[in-house]
Amino acid sequence: MKRYFIDPTLPQWKGNFHCHTTESDGHRTPAEVARFYEEAGYDFLAITDHRKVVDPASIRSGLLLIPGTELDYFITRGHRQAIHIVGVGVDLGLMDTPGLMDSPQQGIDGIIAAGGKAIFAHPAWSLNDPEAIMGLRGLSAVEVYNHMSDDPWNGRRGDSTAILDLCCADGCCLPYVAGDDCHNYDGDQCHSALIVTCAEREQGAVLNAMAQGRVYASQGPVIKELSIEDDTVYLRCSTAQQVIFNSNAMYAKERVVVRRGITEASYPLRDYETFIRVEVTDLWGRGAWSSPILLKDR
Ligand SMILES: [Zn+2]
Ligand SMILES: [Zn+2]
Repeated sequence: MKRYFIDPTLPQWKGNFHCHTTESDGHRTPAEVARFYEEAGYDFLAITDHRKVVDPASIRSGLLLIPGTELDYFITRGHRQAIHIVGVGVDLGLMDTPGLMDSPQQGIDGIIAAGGKAIFAHPAWSLNDPEAIMGLRGLSAVEVYNHMSDDPWNGRRGDSTAILDLCCADGCCLPYVAGDDCHNYDGDQCHSALIVTCAEREQGAVLNAMAQGRVYASQGPVIKELSIEDDTVYLRCSTAQQVIFNSNAMYAKERVVVRRGITEASYPLRDYETFIRVEVTDLWGRGAWSSPILLKDR
């Protein structure tokens, strides 16, 4: 029986769950930021100012606006590392939660108690080790790509696949999202997205689709279908020049597909593979990252 991870029969909704405004250290107002994303064709947006929840009802927009925030911590284990947790779908009173800023786990617990979902932000930028992510309970997703952490704003720490592959190999396969994390609005906005597949553009449906892994991260490429049948992974996508099937296998000769005009690709799973994920690159070098699929129940 074919199992769908991106179901081609469901609508796809495009959103950004990471941006800052003049309510914290961003350079544009919430209304201006919402307008940027609406005009760029996004369907939903969470404004995630530092340690603050902006009331979406204060913003006129055609977008589905979901209340959010970003909580920040430092830990030291071997080296000093930042831990930033984005909360989305939270009650407006989240910041009044006692102990919320005391530790990352208390932050996540507070976000969940406030009805929201917790996303682990930009692990590569934060210099996180896998344990920083795997040691936390209650995460719903992780940023596989963070635009602000990339060129030209922060060097090249936008892509967190290397550290997240270590988590996946240890059995921690969180759903993947991409976030712009825009502050400046000089080109850092409206670049990347999380794409959720669900029947309706409604807050609960969007958040549940993300948390259940019916989501992928993208700078442009569209993943139309991702499925597994008879130990073969099957992908359909918008026109691409490269598709990579990543897993815990060190070497797999069918892993990389490179040719002009790829719109579908497949990959035979080995019995020792414990997770699989797909990266798609289009003609302009823009990427899409599927959420990783844990294969232990195969
Ligand atoms: Zn951050
Ligand atoms: Zn941020």
